[in-house]
Amino acid sequence: MDQKQIDKGHVRRLVIYPDSRLRRTAQVVDLARLQDKKFQELIVDMAKTMLIKDGIGLAAPQVGRNWRLIVVNTDEGVWPMINPIITKLSSSTTIEEEGCLSLPNTFGQVRRAKSLQCHYINELGKECNLTAKGTLARVIQHEVDHLNGILFIDYLK
Ligand SMILES: [Zn+2]
Repeated sequence: MDQKQIDKGHVRRLVIYPDSRLRRTAQVVDLARLQDKKFQELIVDMAKTMLIKDGIGLAAPQVGRNWRLIVVNTDEGVWPMINPIITKLSSSTTIEEEGCLSLPNTFGQVRRAKSLQCHYINELGKECNLTAKGTLARVIQHEVDHLNGILFIDYLK
């Protein structure tokens, strides 16, 4: 996403645990919605909110919108991912510390697949396939969990 566009966005109020909106299953986005100015504003505002709050990923339910939409911060800028589907998870896993903008001051060691493949639609409506590893793979798993009402603390004993 264009940084100038993100600069014009607005910071949205975050939904904080244990708000029940974090536990819903998010709805698939009808791609006609990409033409909706409000939906495009939501994407920009999510990017802005993530960057201002020093997050590396944000899911729409975290700003109170029940759509299958996430934004992730990558080395190449912010990528919005609409209707993301993880198509393959590596069998090798890694344990690392995670936090979440919806759970301030909470951290935990979470085991996740090291790498994955996923399919999504970008903000322009283009179908994309991505192979991710390292932090990006972890962030995508964390954010897709949000779309299914799952929080990282669910993995902690
Ligand atoms: Zn989170």
